[in-house]
Amino acid sequence: MRNNEGRTQISPELLEQFMKQQEEKFTANQSTAAPPPPTQQQTTSGYQVPTDFVELPSKGLFYPPNHPWHMKETVEVRYMTTREEDILSSEAYAKAGIMFDRLIESVTVDNVDSKTLLPGDRNSILINARKNSYGNIYEFATMCEGCYQGIEASVDLSTLKIVEIDVDKVTDNNTVCIALPISKAEVEFKIMTNGDISEINKAIEQQRKHGLQPNETMELHRRMIVSVNQDQSPANINGFITSMLIKDSRYLKTQYSEFSPDVDFTYEKECEHCGHENKGGVPVGTNFFWSVE
Ligand SMILES: [Zn+2]
Repeated sequence: MRNNEGRTQISPELLEQFMKQQEEKFTANQSTAAPPPPTQQQTTSGYQVPTDFVELPSKGLFYPPNHPWHMKETVEVRYMTTREEDILSSEAYAKAGIMFDRLIESVTVDNVDSKTLLPGDRNSILINARKNSYGNIYEFATMCEGCYQGIEASVDLSTLKIVEIDVDKVTDNNTVCIALPISKAEVEFKIMTNGDISEINKAIEQQRKHGLQPNETMELHRRMIVSVNQDQSPANINGFITSMLIKDSRYLKTQYSEFSPDVDFTYEKECEHCGHENKGGVPVGTNFFWSVE
């Protein structure tokens, strides 16, 4: 999620490893812990599951006209039932990394393919589902940036705000056009969907497998840039990307983040061991849907 400025001192790999350990610890405890609170059951065929509306951080911008969420500011979602609880306890989904995708597809009333959604909108749906089923307070373990020790923090999910983006700059083509500071090239970019992000991860994984140094920035740029100086030819865009100046590339990344719709999912916590003021993105793992007591 956004606003990761507070986390730069810890390498993503280290944090990921730490979070994994925490999650494993947690899942191990979970099997002996009490079952989660019962949710509303869909027992009779005529029973209607209550629904709720979730505000989309994207306001429906960036979705093509044929997408169910095109220009939609809010979307209708069902309260979670035992059906969703089964999704959340599926080991197969967790292993395949598609648990949240299945959950989103299950709760949204519109027939959406989770791959086509923007990460920020997905976050909004997941946070709402967590809030409606397991309460407003999300407690989590993370790592202190000052002393690298484990700390516990919590956020109130009912107080989260949407990050405002400058919607006037979004084109009719659901893209954003900017001029790069050094080369002065005019770059048009789109906001990547979850499907785009998994393609990037796949490409990076492939490069690693073949013993190549993965180039994440280049992969990102390839996915997000739609045209350069109004030229949409993939060969020309690719040529531009491979010789892009670092200053321009950084500027593009900053602008991309500036226009990425999301929920402001950050926390602040003073470390009880060293006093460091931790501030960063709230980690969301598969245990996001369990209330820690
Ligand atoms: Zn500390």
